[in-house]
Amino acid sequence: MITRSLANVQTDSPRHADTALISVSNEPQTRWQAQLAGAIRDPRELCRRLELDPGWLPGAEMGHTLFEVRVPEAYLSRIRRGDPHDPLLRQVLPLMAEGNTIQGFVQDPLEESGHTPRRGLIHKYHGRVLLIASPTCAVNCRYCFRRHFPYHENSPSRAQWSDTLAYIHDDTSINEVILSGGDPLAASDRQLGWLTERLEAIPHIKRLRIHTRLPVVIPDRIDTELLDWLSATRLQKVMVLHINHANEIDDAVMAACRRLKDIGVTLLNQSVLLREVNDSIETLAELSEQLFEAGVLPYYLHVLDPVAGAAHFDVPDQEARSLVEELRTRLPGFLMPTLVREIPGEASKTPL
Ligand SMILES: *Cc1c(COP(=O)(O)O)cnc(C)c1O
Ligand code: SF4
Repeated sequence: MITRSLANVQTDSPRHADTALISVSNEPQTRWQAQLAGAIRDPRELCRRLELDPGWLPGAEMGHTLFEVRVPEAYLSRIRRGDPHDPLLRQVLPLMAEGNTIQGFVQDPLEESGHTPRRGLIHKYHGRVLLIASPTCAVNCRYCFRRHFPYHENSPSRAQWSDTLAYIHDDTSINEVILSGGDPLAASDRQLGWLTERLEAIPHIKRLRIHTRLPVVIPDRIDTELLDWLSATRLQKVMVLHINHANEIDDAVMAACRRLKDIGVTLLNQSVLLREVNDSIETLAELSEQLFEAGVLPYYLHVLDPVAGAAHFDVPDQEARSLVEELRTRLPGFLMPTLVREIPGEASKTPL
């Protein structure tokens, strides 16, 4: 479970003093960090602020005990008041259904725990490794496949980071490093700058890829400090955003994307196909169109990973395939995401 915020990390520093990328000692809080610390984390407040019928509260409180509520104000502001079917709300509001035990929906659906040769590093695919750069997220998405992830076992100390970097150094087949999490951009710019410098010192690393939802949920995250370390690196830069619905792309998100494009970041998007969020042709077509307006190309459309507590979001494969086939008749090829599933043990994501 993702239970620690940066705010906690800051006040807890003695206990976490040895965790390199997440220990934030005497740094002053930036605007985005204040927004992150101020995110709504109380199911009661979430329901009240969104003017939901009180009938939704027991489910929200129950789900919160399984995976805590977290919604920053900037994301909340894009949700329609009083509408329990708002597609953004569905992604963040816990429901009673999360408590159901459904066959096939498990704690670690991707069996990632078997692919961590070093703390905080997942090496499943040829040429690229994934680093858990921060255990925290800015928003807690109810369908998240990492909702049960044992982050406390994967937040390495500075000494362990050296070990992780040595692994990358020693394997010359690796040319791309993916910062993931949690959300890697929940780490501070000082920490990310530190890591990036070490990565670019490894000659065979060509690309830095960042998988993040932060520019979407708190667009102020794309500030001068971030743009500074990111534009300073020799590495080619790819950012894979995570946007599931066109309503998530407001003016602030558009502006954040523009700032990233201006310093030469390639912007891609991955979505998850989610029941009652984006499971229609119109919604998916509108999403691709809006992404392109923001300068972002659709990359993957993931089918749901079968994680315990998220079965109510599931869209069966056959339905997913026919949605995508019909979408192809509506959109130019470059606006088509690839429909994929992650199958444990496979050498890549598997197209459906
Ligand atoms: C998804 C994923 C990647 C990246 O895969 P691409 O197909 O290159 O986007 C890399 N490592 C892990 C562990 C992944 O889950
Ligand atoms: S931002 Fe990504 S990792 Fe974090 S809760 Fe949402 S889906 Fe999961």
